[in-house]
Amino acid sequence: MTKFSDLNLNPKVLKAISDAGYETPTPIQAGAIPAALEGKDVLGIAQTGTGKTASFTLPMLSLLARGRARARMPRSLVLCPTRELAAQVAENFDTYSKHLKLTKALLIGGVSFKEQDILIDRGVDVLIATPGRLLDHFERGKLLLTGVQVMVVDEADRMLDMGFIPDIERIFKLTPFTRQTLFFSATMAPEIERITSEFLSAPARIEVARQATASETIEQGVVMFKASRRDREGSEKRRVLRELINSEGDKCTNAIIFCNRKTDVDITAKSLKKYGYDAAPIHGDLDQSQRTRTLESFRNNELRILVASDVAARGLDVPSVSHVFNFDVPGHAEDYVHRIGRTGRAGREGKAFTICTPRDEKNFDAVEKLIQKEITRVESPVKSAEKKDKPVEKQDRRRSEKKAAEPTPVKEVATPKPKDAPKDRGRSRGRSGGRSDNKVVGMGDHMPSFIALSFDDRRAS
Ligand code: AMP
Repeated sequence: MTKFSDLNLNPKVLKAISDAGYETPTPIQAGAIPAALEGKDVLGIAQTGTGKTASFTLPMLSLLARGRARARMPRSLVLCPTRELAAQVAENFDTYSKHLKLTKALLIGGVSFKEQDILIDRGVDVLIATPGRLLDHFERGKLLLTGVQVMVVDEADRMLDMGFIPDIERIFKLTPFTRQTLFFSATMAPEIERITSEFLSAPARIEVARQATASETIEQGVVMFKASRRDREGSEKRRVLRELINSEGDKCTNAIIFCNRKTDVDITAKSLKKYGYDAAPIHGDLDQSQRTRTLESFRNNELRILVASDVAARGLDVPSVSHVFNFDVPGHAEDYVHRIGRTGRAGREGKAFTICTPRDEKNFDAVEKLIQKEITRVESPVKSAEKKDKPVEKQDRRRSEKKAAEPTPVKEVATPKPKDAPKDRGRSRGRSGGRSDNKVVGMGDHMPSFIALSFDDRRAS
């Protein structure tokens, strides 16, 4: 088995690795580090959780340990799709460079240009950026990319999803063609294939097993859920979610809940809070300081539940999440793997539950096909709660039937016009409070009991 000490890394970097407690390189590290140290381009096909960040950070630091930064001309560049991921890469640099004297700057949106300009003016060894912010700085004439010796593109498939590929191509062209490129992607879509063949030169290709096959420590379950009425889907789904969380009890120490849409992230977090759960949202429309704060408290175990969108959660390194809940089945099957990869990390056990509506079934099939595994069907915790309630329901029905059979005084009620009927029905229910002694016009005292029964049932829902 390869050891870190066999990899030719700078001794100060090796010391930082041992400080971090890493014993052996992961497969992507064992493959990418030697090639990168030899100055080769690297094409790493690996997902988050495989140790890929260190697979480019460690050789970069070893290469940068020699030489010095010049004003406004960074010596290396790391491009990340999201602010969170960029911030996380920056943290990795801090961890592994703690025994070296290197400077870095993080160029992400939501942070003032002024602060970032000061850092760039001083000269940085490592520039970590999201593509849009980097180009903004470049266009303001504050940054030159002609000194870049090593360029990293991280999570290229996500860059593609987010429409960043033209920006990446432009940035490639602004850097010297002699630069070394380390390029990482979880999948090789045709567009990714195209840019790697254009901008990488005879890369060492290192592909590690899909995380889908590696996540054996994660117990997976799915609740097939159908709302009683379409307009109740949201609230009923949130109830299923709450019951799922409850059914896990203390085993659910902390969790990430994924929603497909940002609005659902907000609604779900708000609803959970209303029901007394310790939850907060994270997605791209929230301001940066709030996102950082939320993430920080989640990492420090001060926040139990993080409700997230895929983009915001991409690559988040939270070491010990006990549960992942997919409030929605993701549109891309790969995202399922990324999502559940937040739990069961580093050999720990984890649980992942998904709620699947009939509309999501096609996407869910794609997930099962990708992971080549049938996910256990779990009975809806709400249904079982209702089953327990059933006897009570029957009792209520019997009571209402009895009540309906009792003679009640006849009142004069005007017959509603047909087009007003639904409105009036609602109003009369509100006024009467849904009592079963409500008279039905034209029935006299001989109202059949089933009418009262359906009335009560409507009230119960
Ligand atoms: P990444 O795929 O870069 O997001 O890394 C996933 C996690 O694995 C992070 O928490 C790293 O700190 C951790 N990690 C990276 N390399 C190693 C290693 N060689 N041994 C143990 N943990 C590692």
